[in-house]
Amino acid sequence: MVAAVWNGTVPDPALPLHAAGDASSPWVGLAYLVAGALFILALRGLSHPSTSVRGNRFGMAGMLIAVVTTVVTHDLASLPEILAAIGIGGAIGWIIARRIAMTDMPQLVAAFHSLVGMAAVLVGWAAYLNPAAFGILRSVGDAFTHPVIGAELTLWREEINPVSRIELGLGVAIGAITFSGSVIAFLKLAGRMSGAPILLPGRHVINLGTLAAILVLVALFAAAQPGATLPLIIAITVLAFLIGFLLIIPIGGADMPVVVSMLNSYSGWAAAAMGFTLGNTAMIITGALVGASGAILSYIMCRAMNRRFLSVIAGGFGADAAVAGSSGGEARPFRQGSAEDAAYMLEQAERVIIIPGYGMAVAQAQHALREMADLLKKKGVDVRYAIHPVAGRMPGHMNVLLAEANVPYDEVFELEDINSEFAQTNIAFVIGANDVVNPAAKTDKSSPIYGMPVFDVDKAEQVFFIKRSMSGAGYAGVDNEVFYMPQTTMLLADAKKMVDDIVKALS
Ligand code: NDP
Repeated sequence: MVAAVWNGTVPDPALPLHAAGDASSPWVGLAYLVAGALFILALRGLSHPSTSVRGNRFGMAGMLIAVVTTVVTHDLASLPEILAAIGIGGAIGWIIARRIAMTDMPQLVAAFHSLVGMAAVLVGWAAYLNPAAFGILRSVGDAFTHPVIGAELTLWREEINPVSRIELGLGVAIGAITFSGSVIAFLKLAGRMSGAPILLPGRHVINLGTLAAILVLVALFAAAQPGATLPLIIAITVLAFLIGFLLIIPIGGADMPVVVSMLNSYSGWAAAAMGFTLGNTAMIITGALVGASGAILSYIMCRAMNRRFLSVIAGGFGADAAVAGSSGGEARPFRQGSAEDAAYMLEQAERVIIIPGYGMAVAQAQHALREMADLLKKKGVDVRYAIHPVAGRMPGHMNVLLAEANVPYDEVFELEDINSEFAQTNIAFVIGANDVVNPAAKTDKSSPIYGMPVFDVDKAEQVFFIKRSMSGAGYAGVDNEVFYMPQTTMLLADAKKMVDDIVKALS
């Protein structure tokens, strides 16, 4: 005789197949699909400054649909609890966004990535500790012979299904890597930890070994008996926190742009993993979009810096940057000029290319710069802007600032589109940029920025170079031959003050 002991719940036949607030209703799928389509349109819009505002609006609409659909159809927390969480989170975000200086955006982005990573870890752990709430249980029948009546019986028990265990283990691992990696990136970008690489002996073996160990542990976690899973998920979490830390500490200053976009990608994959655990299609779509676009951006940044992605990940680039600073070197002769000198030469010029960099962001000189360009254009000068992909401290940093100052998009050019024009240019006007115009990247094999494509400002007839002092180096910490070229005039002052003075002299 075969009997069954059932300890699960039986669906109520009186209920419709898909109740109104049911997360599996086709309407929910449709709402998430619309949100996903809006996110794709958002990414498309964000690919060009002229369409980026529209792109942002698509993104906001998509997010609104996704959040409202999730809040209405899921019942993990009460509405007041959810509204309170949105209120507290929104208020903190609002205060931070109001206070943050534009120049601190990269570290803020890194800090936000760390929160996504931690959220993925917490969701994974919540699902592990309360799998019934996440709907990831399966019933498993163990056959046994009853000792008294001798009948063949099946004892049913519930356990987290193995596929969900793989998703959960990977989600926790990716989240933990994103968290600790982003914290280190935050500390480096905020200058609270040296930007110089920390190179542990045998780090490649340690890193690869740890990554392999995490994958093996996830496989064991998926196959383990319910009683044996706790130590495995603890080990996955601890090792993943460790590897995030180990992966980022050897990456040097000059590679930080790639790291920022790489962590952006990781945070997307962490969100997608959370989406699998929560069974939330919108989150899977959004996470995958962020993960894939971050990976593509990392690739583009690597190409812009002439670096191989794997060698960035392996770390160590820029190892000598900290010791190669210009400040300690012996004084070399250079020519210094005033705002009046610059104004006089600029209005005589036919063609001027402006190269903005991090210092323009620090000084917030973009508005004054546009005013200067407008005056020059009125005097018949052809003025264009050249933007390097890694200028500033985050991808698109300079584009954002110039757009904020309403610089026309058709005057803004990418490196590869304008670099050949310097030879026919009267003045290269470098404002707060440094590494992106450093010819050592082309000539000095020992330089930490060797191989990165740079603007050929040395080919222009004249160079005006705004920075505050001769001792301050660029991000990579290396001296710049352009300062000492005969055709270069150094304009040593805060960028906004200097451009304001040039504007006064021009008008
Ligand atoms: P750099 O960081 O090389 O140089 C900045 C220059 O601005 C320095 O010469 C500095 O000199 C000057 N400066 C700073 N403040 C002012 C101010 N108030 N007024 C005038 N000048 C000022 O900038 P670049 O944009 O050329 O290069 C970007 C670097 O940052 C690259 O090495 C890139 O790899 C790295 N990076 C880029 C990221 C990205 O995503 N774009 C992320 C992280 C790093 P002084 O102090 O004397 O004034």
